[in-house]
Amino acid sequence: MTMPATETRGFQAEVSRLLQLMIHSMYSHREIFLRELISNASDACDRLRFAALADPALAADGTGPEIRIDFDSKERTLTVTDTGIGMTRDEAAEHLGTIARSGTAEFFARLTGDQQKDSTLIGQFGVGFYSAFIVAERVEVLSRRAGLPADAAVCWSSRGDGEFTLATVTRAERGTSVRLWLREDAAEFADAFRLRGLIRRFSDHIAFPVLLRPDGGKGEYDRVNQAQALWTRPRSELTDDDYRQFYRHIAHDPGEPLAWSHHQVEGRREYTTLLYVPASAPFDLYNRESPRGLKLYVRRVFIMDDAEQFLPLYLRFIKGVIDSSDLPLNVSRELLQQDADVQAIRGAVTRRVVDLLARLAAGEADKYQTFWKEFGNVLKEGLVEDPGNRERLLPLLRFASTVDDGAVPQGLADYLARLRPGQKDICYLLADSLAAARGSPQLEGLRARGVEVLLLHERIDPWLVMHLDEYEGHRFVDIARGELRLDDIAATESAPAQAGTVIESLWPRVAARLGDRVAGVRASTRLAESAACLVRDHADPGPQLQRLLEAAGQKLPPTRPWLELNPAHPLVIRLNLLPDGDSFDSLAALLADQALIAEGAAPADPAAFVQRLNAWLLDPRMGGGA
Ligand code: ADP
Ligand code: MG
Repeated sequence: MTMPATETRGFQAEVSRLLQLMIHSMYSHREIFLRELISNASDACDRLRFAALADPALAADGTGPEIRIDFDSKERTLTVTDTGIGMTRDEAAEHLGTIARSGTAEFFARLTGDQQKDSTLIGQFGVGFYSAFIVAERVEVLSRRAGLPADAAVCWSSRGDGEFTLATVTRAERGTSVRLWLREDAAEFADAFRLRGLIRRFSDHIAFPVLLRPDGGKGEYDRVNQAQALWTRPRSELTDDDYRQFYRHIAHDPGEPLAWSHHQVEGRREYTTLLYVPASAPFDLYNRESPRGLKLYVRRVFIMDDAEQFLPLYLRFIKGVIDSSDLPLNVSRELLQQDADVQAIRGAVTRRVVDLLARLAAGEADKYQTFWKEFGNVLKEGLVEDPGNRERLLPLLRFASTVDDGAVPQGLADYLARLRPGQKDICYLLADSLAAARGSPQLEGLRARGVEVLLLHERIDPWLVMHLDEYEGHRFVDIARGELRLDDIAATESAPAQAGTVIESLWPRVAARLGDRVAGVRASTRLAESAACLVRDHADPGPQLQRLLEAAGQKLPPTRPWLELNPAHPLVIRLNLLPDGDSFDSLAALLADQALIAEGAAPADPAAFVQRLNAWLLDPRMGGGA
């Protein structure tokens, strides 16, 4: 195939939109462009090293990996050059003309118009290269792919206005130069002092030398950064700020991590881990297919992003680096999967993360709350997926509870500290929302006795509870299931006296009227103010799980709940006074429907419900006429 020497192409529509945005609405924090270009240069050096493992000839000629920054203040140009892998003409067209990663729509959806926030999205969404246009009116990329001859280099050039040109050119050296013609108002970046400051701030931890010529064009290059992989340096040498900068680099997150843990493990298996807990969840946290944050290095050589073999899925929010001294350099994902050492390292890394979270929970409650808000529901998956770490994970759980106003989620240890005299179990209630949980009639009897109830209202909770059996010898009990025994729990002063009149004869009469709708009818110990509630047997999946499964297309066999009535409630007392007949039937059906509505479901026959209710509202004597 012959290629025209020079051709002009249009950007993918999303790229044009992105460029508009860069050019017109990113004035603050525009210096991030340099971080992005140096980060790309560093990636290119990493990738060359990796490719050279299979084909050493690729890196044999020319200089070793380095990143050079040149500028010319008169011409107002700035050039970032690397000796990395380079790009072919096709690759340049592909990588610098489209946005490869999925999530582009999400990127646009997330833009807020707040420049500070929006600029933080750039690195996260893998659109860093285009940030050059924040400061440049023209960008030219000269690149020669490692292994290709000098005359197969490419020159990519654009003014950011919807199109770019490609030309085949000659370049003596392998690698890439990105040259920016700075806008008039961005002249400050063609300045050694300014550049040095930015490189130190953004790129000190880059593992390759970043070189700058003090006067721009002539003289010797100075190395500006440490040029040593940060995780290989001893902890004692590193400041918190070093760790934070490195986090920004690897996590593409301009924020601060909540916590980190850095370990150099020696012995039979030698490896280093540097693990971070981010402070906010990525948009695709719940996409179980999306990339995870651990980078694998083998003896400092970058091997792969997204090394999912080293962490279980429920810790997918962790970012960081693992550098192994033992794995072969040509290790593949398949090999990782089978390697027994990898399994062992995964176990150790998992524990390290769980310990880190436990330390955070114990020492920095505010940060732990942030963590829980962002990632708590993911961590819950651990109880389901990783029974081996159950005992370590249980203390990390947090729940809304009846004890506070819902502002602070409670841990199980806090719960146990508040057990009422005579209370043995950990009581919880499942509901579709926190509001539904708080308003549930099921809580009334326990509330009156001062018993705290954990309110489980997240989608994953019905699954979670299937894997909660006990904590420190205390069973987890769903207060909406089975018969609730409160007798052992001391009543508080304010607890209402339980129903004086036991109206045993009423229950079979109501049950006969409701037929198949219920498993049976009985007096409730759960209720204080409400008249009725529904109670499931232990084997029943429960309404939350049932609704979730039905939404997922699974049809479950119908189950029948118990109807519990409050013998002290005026409506129940009244029902008891009614003889068999229409009024009795109507009130019994209303109470059963109320119980359904209270748990967030619809009445069995909504139209009939409305008619019955209206009949009672309009004619209060209807039921009293017995
Ligand atoms: P990301 O780095 O997240 O992939 P960018 O927008 O920064 O996104 O870069 C897009 C792509 O362009 C890179 O993935 C890479 O393939 C290519 N690229 C950019 N800069 C270079 C470079 N200096 N050397 C080689 N390839 C590069
Ligand atoms: Mg990049």
